[in-house]
This record gives sequence, structure tokens and C-alpha cells, in this order.
Amino acid sequence: MNLYSIAAATGFSILFLLLLFVPMEKVFPAKAGQKILRPHWFTDLCFFLGQYLLWGGLVLWALNHFGHWVDGMTPSSFRQQVAAQPWWLQAIEVIVLSDFLIYWAHRLQHRAGFLWRFHKVHHSAEHLDWLAAHREHPLDTIYTVGIINLPAILLGFPLETIAGFIAFRGIWAIYIHSNVRLPIGPLRMFIGAPELHHWHHHLDRDAGNYANISPLMDILFGTYTCPGHEPDKFGIREEFPKNYPAQLIHPLLPQSISDKIPGLAPAKENETAVDFDTFAQKNNDGKR
Ligand SMILES: [Zn+2]
Ligand SMILES: [Zn+2]
Repeated sequence: MNLYSIAAATGFSILFLLLLFVPMEKVFPAKAGQKILRPHWFTDLCFFLGQYLLWGGLVLWALNHFGHWVDGMTPSSFRQQVAAQPWWLQAIEVIVLSDFLIYWAHRLQHRAGFLWRFHKVHHSAEHLDWLAAHREHPLDTIYTVGIINLPAILLGFPLETIAGFIAFRGIWAIYIHSNVRLPIGPLRMFIGAPELHHWHHHLDRDAGNYANISPLMDILFGTYTCPGHEPDKFGIREEFPKNYPAQLIHPLLPQSISDKIPGLAPAKENETAVDFDTFAQKNNDGKR
């Protein structure tokens, strides 16, 4: 792909997402009155552009290498047995396996300090909408994309099918971050809904709802949470820099070093100052 086609794809994607999500956010808002240009929208736009213009190629390159590496380890007789099954059975196997893997891999991102360093970039968003979905450290993206697609690679799915999965999950990920609440009732127990992922973005590091598409894994493993209202705040309790370059670099350096570099030190704004007593109180009220 040349530079012109990359720029055209970026422009087309942003137009498509604007046309798809902005009307939904206006008609079915989860938080009514949230503006399109809400605080820190520019940081999220930088993540969006970075993903398309800088890191997308790196993620694909890593996935490709990972695929070849895994490829060499799976016996071809196993592949043939998988391919001999009906297509719908293969599709169910891939979806269930990848939902299971990403559920536990995501819980690990919240538990293991090394993974949380990168994953907390995503959780530092204090306003959720379709644009905030793109706030993700590229190394965090490589981890997630690699694990989500591991079953498809292991079972020997063709690259076009894998690309289809990636595109579908990408749109889905944007949807569950959007400022949307659709009246789907008990259906939200089977298909993920934005309100479930919004609770995942509540201030607690172990707020629950780790599943990607269907919340069944959360129900199964006891991490499903769905109060009848939106969380009052999104974000993390830790202090963290607010701008794009600092958010990219901060996780790569030891805390003792990054805290000393001007521009990398966590922002201290009145707007985002954390009053722990108030939050602890509200949190106890709001959780199931
Ligand atoms: Zn998370
Ligand atoms: Zn998220």
C-alpha cells in the first residue's frame, strides 16, 4: 500500500465511523448531553490516526510472523481433520475458543503489573465514545490481536477469513465503547452491550466484564456486572499522563525514570483529581 491509499483508507474509515456512530450516540445516548468534542478528544484522535498511519502495519507484521511461527507447530493431519468439519462447526469452534482465550488474557492484563502498564493506556480514557475505543497502546493491540486470532491460526483458517474476523471484532470493539445504550433488554446476557463494557471502564482495576463479544464467559466465571445505570466516572485511579506521545512512551520506561522526565510525569488536573472517599462510597452503592 502506498501513502496515498493509506491516507484515503484513513479518511474513508473516519467518515464511515462518524456516519455510523454519531447518529446512534445522538438518538440512543448512554450519557445524554455528551458532546462530540468532549475533553481529551484530541488524544483519542491521535490514537486513531496513529493506529491507521503508523501502527497498523506493525500489528499486521507481528500477526503474520506469529501466524507462521504457530503454523510450523501444528501437524498437517490435524489441519486436515479440522478442515473436514462443516464450516458452521468450525466457525463456532473458533468463536468460542477465542472468546475463552481473550477472556482470560484480558483478566491477566488487569492482574499482571507488566501487562497493566500497557493496558491502562486504554483505561485512562475518562469519556467513552466511538473515538475513545481507539485509545490503545500498539503493544497492547499486538497482544490482544495475537490472542484473539490464535484459534483461527491454529485451526488453519485461511487469511481472508481471519481478516474478516479482525474487521468484525474491530467494529464490535468500537460499538461497545460508543456512548450508546440500545433497548435490547435481556438479550444483553447473550450479546455484549456497550453498558457492560462501560462498567468494565469504571475506576476499579477489577471492575468485571472482561469478555469481548458475548458476556457468557463473565456469567460463567462470576465477573458479570450490570447495574441499571451508567457508571458515574470512567478512568483509572492511578495518575497517568494525558497526551498521546507521553502515553505511548510512559509504559516503556521504568516508573522511577518516567516520573523524572518533564512531559512524561502524570498530569494533575483539578478535573481529574480523584477523591478516593467519595469514589469508594459511590462504588459500594453502584456495584451489585
Ligand atoms: Zn480492560
Ligand atoms: Zn475498552
